[in-house]
Amino acid sequence: MKKSCSFCGNKNFREDKVQYIYKHDNRFLVVNNVPAEVCEFCGEQYFKADVLKKIEKEFSEIHSAGKKAKNVLRMPVEEFVEI
Ligand SMILES: [Zn+2]
Repeated sequence: MKKSCSFCGNKNFREDKVQYIYKHDNRFLVVNNVPAEVCEFCGEQYFKADVLKKIEKEFSEIHSAGKKAKNVLRMPVEEFVEI
């Protein structure tokens, strides 16, 4: 991919599989092993538009259409002023 990182300007990226956390209206979807281009200098992750579209579609199928996700996580939640 011929571009530079919008955070650090570095031009070297590597293909990787990363965990993507999609958040919308305080609801979440965690997707593992999402293909990404990762900046070799600062680690910023870049995703292709069709990859993000697929995740958005899955999010709405799970949260709006009642599709059952492969796994469900329970997460601890804290308020910063209380920790
Ligand atoms: Zn970078």
